[in-house]
Amino acid sequence: MQNKTSHLSITNDIRSINIKRIFYLTLISILYNLIHIIIFYTNLSKDNPTEMKWRLGIIFCHASLAVLMSIFGVCAYIVSKKALVATPMHLMIYAALITVFVFGVLITAIDQLVTASITPFLVACTIVSVVFLIRPVNAFLFYLFSYAGFFFALSTYQKNPSILLSNRVNGMTAVGIGLFVSIMMWKMTTSNLIQKQLIAEQQEELMKKNGELERLAFFDQLTGVYNRRKYEELLKNEISRISRYHQPASIVLIDIDNFKRINDHYGHPVGDRVLQEFAGLLKKNIRDTDSISRWGGEEFLILLPNTALEEAKKTAEKLRQIVENYEQLNQDSEIHLTASFGVASLPADRQNALEIAYKNADDAMYLAKENGRNRVEAK
Ligand code: GH3
Ligand code: MG
Ligand code: MG
Repeated sequence: MQNKTSHLSITNDIRSINIKRIFYLTLISILYNLIHIIIFYTNLSKDNPTEMKWRLGIIFCHASLAVLMSIFGVCAYIVSKKALVATPMHLMIYAALITVFVFGVLITAIDQLVTASITPFLVACTIVSVVFLIRPVNAFLFYLFSYAGFFFALSTYQKNPSILLSNRVNGMTAVGIGLFVSIMMWKMTTSNLIQKQLIAEQQEELMKKNGELERLAFFDQLTGVYNRRKYEELLKNEISRISRYHQPASIVLIDIDNFKRINDHYGHPVGDRVLQEFAGLLKKNIRDTDSISRWGGEEFLILLPNTALEEAKKTAEKLRQIVENYEQLNQDSEIHLTASFGVASLPADRQNALEIAYKNADDAMYLAKENGRNRVEAK
């Protein structure tokens, strides 16, 4: 699955590299086409029919190429901006590549009217190898067909057998070099992209693992609320905050009543589920600014920032009633729970503030137990 994704992403990367390169190629090509048209049009004389034919042929080729390149340029621009569907993109890349070869062959063939040079074909082979990233198999086929075209087109105007032979051999060399460079470019680029992809995947994996580690370090595995270790840190931060800003804050310690019976009656797995649901119920019914932790087995601690003791007692009472009225479903039966609540304010500007507050909340909670459970007490 991962390989498939990497492969797909590399294919997409290669496609967008090709599209970008085609865009720049068209800009340069159009400029060169215009320069050629101007040069070949200047001093166009009708005295020498062969030269006239040559010049007009070259002008026609460059004009047609300029038009086609403009179309490819616009398409490449649109595709790069909008990331269009894959297939037309593929076709466009191949169409641009074939265009380069076809005009390389055509211009070389027309050049044979007055010169033995095969430079345009050489240029086409070079452009294809350095601009287009194509699979080696496809590159081989494109170079093979372009050579076949070159081989036959050359004889249209080149009537000197020795020059024809020499050019065909030189053309073969051009194709060989072009193909070699094309394959090297493909190998280099794909291996770079695979490396980049691998690094990106490893980074993603690492981030996931870090997230998981953070989750394990900060949160209780069973209920998903903060664990005690992290919560002690948060409480200490809160103590520093209230000391600085002189604001009140309270904590509520909650212990489920007779939880052992739930385990004994329904079994441990049901007990676990009850704890999860209980934590969720509390979390759902506190304010966004309040927070909750699993302090011990069936004990939870809630921090209420900006809340004085009296108000905290009211919050605890509201939660007590919610718990009392809540029915947890277990197969065909309903599980009713109650809990005892110990409320204490968080003292500022004191050494061992957390220990003091916790002791007060714990004492209050035990008082609630002593007074018959399902109660809120404060200290
Ligand atoms: P009290 O009203 O006095 O608090 O009675 P209690 O039965 O709730 O108190 P006690 O401390 O005797 O028992 C707490 C029980 O909570 C015992 C323990 O097995 C259970 N418990 C603690 N952690 C877990 C847990 O993660 N899963 C389950 N299923 N039970 C747990
Ligand atoms: Mg307990
Ligand atoms: Mg209990």
